[in-house]
Amino acid sequence: MIRRAIYPGSFDPITFGHIDIAERALGLFDEVVLAVARNEQKRPIFSHEERIQLVTEATRDIKGHERLKIIGFNSLLVECARRQDAIAIVRGLRAVSDFEYELQLALINRNLSPELETLFLMPKENFIYLSSSIIKELARHKADISHFVPEPVALALKNKFS
Ligand code: ADP
Repeated sequence: MIRRAIYPGSFDPITFGHIDIAERALGLFDEVVLAVARNEQKRPIFSHEERIQLVTEATRDIKGHERLKIIGFNSLLVECARRQDAIAIVRGLRAVSDFEYELQLALINRNLSPELETLFLMPKENFIYLSSSIIKELARHKADISHFVPEPVALALKNKFS
């Protein structure tokens, strides 16, 4: 049996923090499905297609990339997980501030789909304070973000705010 996990998010845009979590998940599972949520209600700055494209470019060379599948979804997460035959949902936990929301989400998802386990992974310390929203704020002010996001993402942000 293939042990497959799903790693969902908005990825608006993908950062080294997300990639750190994807790599850790690839170390634990046979396959990881990185699922980009459409999430229009969050008013993403990149379109769904752009976010999927950036994730694809940003993960092309990571360790285990051949076991990473990238998809978009616009349904309930547990339904997407079921369609993908995933046994676990992977989420990243940074500071304590993530905890309450993530706990709520995990318990609701468990309620909807009891057999699907949610697994939290911690990123490397350097990425603890990194979020897509901070990156967008930095990029808006033309700050150097090359330590926080892969090159295609830095370029896309530069174009977006130029
Ligand atoms: P969402 O809109 O679902 O919160 P995000 O794209 O912001 O989606 O994040 C997806 C997942 O990645 C979440 O579990 C989030 O906590 C995690 N994540 C985001 N940034 C980091 C980071 N720097 N380190 C670890 N995990 C992160």
